[in-house]
Amino acid sequence: MRAAVLTTPGRLAVVDDWPDPVCRPDHVIVAIRDVGICGTDLGLFDGSRTVPHLPWVIGHEAHGRIVEVGAGIPPSRIGERVAIEPNYPCQACAPCQNGAPALCLRRGSPALNLPGMLAERVEVPARHAWTLPAGLADQDAVCVEPLAVALAAVRRAALTGTASCLVVGAGALGLLLVHALRSAGHPVAVLEPHPERRARAVALGAAHAPDGTEFPVAFETSGTAAGGEAALARLAPQGRLVLVGVGSDPIPLDTRIAVRRGLTVLGSMIYDHPRDYRATIDAVARDSITPGIVVAASYPLEQAQEAFTAASSVPGKTVITLAEGGAA
Ligand SMILES: [Zn+2]
Ligand SMILES: [Zn+2]
Repeated sequence: MRAAVLTTPGRLAVVDDWPDPVCRPDHVIVAIRDVGICGTDLGLFDGSRTVPHLPWVIGHEAHGRIVEVGAGIPPSRIGERVAIEPNYPCQACAPCQNGAPALCLRRGSPALNLPGMLAERVEVPARHAWTLPAGLADQDAVCVEPLAVALAAVRRAALTGTASCLVVGAGALGLLLVHALRSAGHPVAVLEPHPERRARAVALGAAHAPDGTEFPVAFETSGTAAGGEAALARLAPQGRLVLVGVGSDPIPLDTRIAVRRGLTVLGSMIYDHPRDYRATIDAVARDSITPGIVVAASYPLEQAQEAFTAASSVPGKTVITLAEGGAA
């Protein structure tokens, strides 16, 4: 089958002879339609994050159509359009047993320790292939995964009433947080140095964050020291800092602010299976949230190299489309 294969850091080769996946019991084979690119993928691409071996297929935000089912899965699922939940908790370790499968110690993750999604066909555990609502646009379907990250962060933030929120960073994740929070009726302000990204957040209903305004909740999506410091400085007494972005540099914590203001710092790691994907599918089915609004560029598989090279400077999400999979 065709696949975009990382052959060396910074180089993706599109090949025709990548081995097809084999469908094991309780799994399905999904013909991939679209794959979204996020910061994790860019880190794997440029070599700042390591892959198990080269050549290696990356990509983990995907949707497509079931074309084969393994033993134990009803053949009636063949033909279903699905979004893939690309983190497979073991269901046996302590975090899994304690209701936090996002923190699984033996998680299977396509692109990180399992073959990624930039391929025509991928094997997925059947319970991680979520049936999409009829008629959902491809660009919404490909953004279900990052929307699940955003909605899990909102759930964990345990917001009360219509608390006003600060979103720091307006990459795709920050934009999805703005969109989700606005859809839930929360006033939202954004801090983002890049003018085009900031403009996209404002178009989704975010206000500029005026100097001196304090917020009960801040979502930090940039993963940068500057972003973390800015979020901490804007929190009201008893405020809650929700860390969603992951960067390579530590965020310095000013104890004069954190202690004297009684702040809470909460890390929000991806999403918990199955509750957060179920809630995300429900949200896009209700039409209240259209995550595809963050898609800013799309490329065919043949141009995977160009897509990855340009993605970090695109204000929004870059998507790679494969020929197979089928639209709505
Ligand atoms: Zn991602
Ligand atoms: Zn586990």
